[in-house]
Amino acid sequence: MTLDKSWYTEEWAGQGSAISLKIKNKVHDERSAYQRIEIYETETFGTLMTLDGLVMVTDRDNFIYHEMMSHPALFTHPDPKRVLVIGGGDCGTLNEVLKHPGVELAEQVELDERVTRVAEQFFPELCASNNDPRARLRFADGIQWVADAKPGSYDVIIVDSTDPVGPAAGLFSETFYQNCLRALAPRGVVVGQSESPLFHPDLIRSMHRALRAAGFREVATLNFPQCTYPSGWWSATMAARDTALSKFRQADKRFPTRYYNQEIHAAALARPEFMRQL
Ligand code: SAM
Repeated sequence: MTLDKSWYTEEWAGQGSAISLKIKNKVHDERSAYQRIEIYETETFGTLMTLDGLVMVTDRDNFIYHEMMSHPALFTHPDPKRVLVIGGGDCGTLNEVLKHPGVELAEQVELDERVTRVAEQFFPELCASNNDPRARLRFADGIQWVADAKPGSYDVIIVDSTDPVGPAAGLFSETFYQNCLRALAPRGVVVGQSESPLFHPDLIRSMHRALRAAGFREVATLNFPQCTYPSGWWSATMAARDTALSKFRQADKRFPTRYYNQEIHAAALARPEFMRQL
């Protein structure tokens, strides 16, 4: 919702708060078969993509989200070769996954092809690896994709989805996690964006319950800042079939990152008191 045409404002329903970014221009506006896709040039956050009026990506802070959605899970798995990204149409998570030299296949299953085509036009740096021979871009429903996947097909599944409403709601369900468990090979890891610890603690609790009920042995939430998402504080919840989530391959990072490092990985797993009580 825009209160003043020189500002993009997203009000956070039920939270009595909002974020505003000063905009220079709106450069794209379309309704795809699934959602409204808008692109703005902002004064200080670079290019901004919104879906149905909600911030998805800005040039300035997306590196934190994309690095935290990918590297903790990939460095937790002892040897990830086959990675599935569900959603993630801006391709930033895929780009991070492909930095891991051991990855042989990175398959992205995004519902809305238009999100990817618009990202290719306005966020070329996030789409820089789309032509990597290891990348496969599929346009389909991730819920059905995982239900149809052959048992043991992936080492890591990353759920880089929109909020748990509409087509993304099923990506947070116990049935979906059961299908993820079946689609994962031994030592497999799944990670999904899990919203704000401050604003959405019930969602994080229900994800932990559903992942455990589906049969995952360990579940842990990673905390990180994300100043353009509700509350400015975001999380990803990770679960393992049979790998210890507290152990990760610390010495193996041989590519540059801007946020992720081994200290950040360990710190992100620390639980504030109120989250322990959840
Ligand atoms: N970083 C973002 C956030 O947390 O706000 C998420 C970005 S990414 C653009 C989310 C994508 O998930 C959207 O492009 C949307 O089309 C896709 N999506 C939603 N439900 C889906 C489903 N069932 N299967 C595959 N993709 C889905």
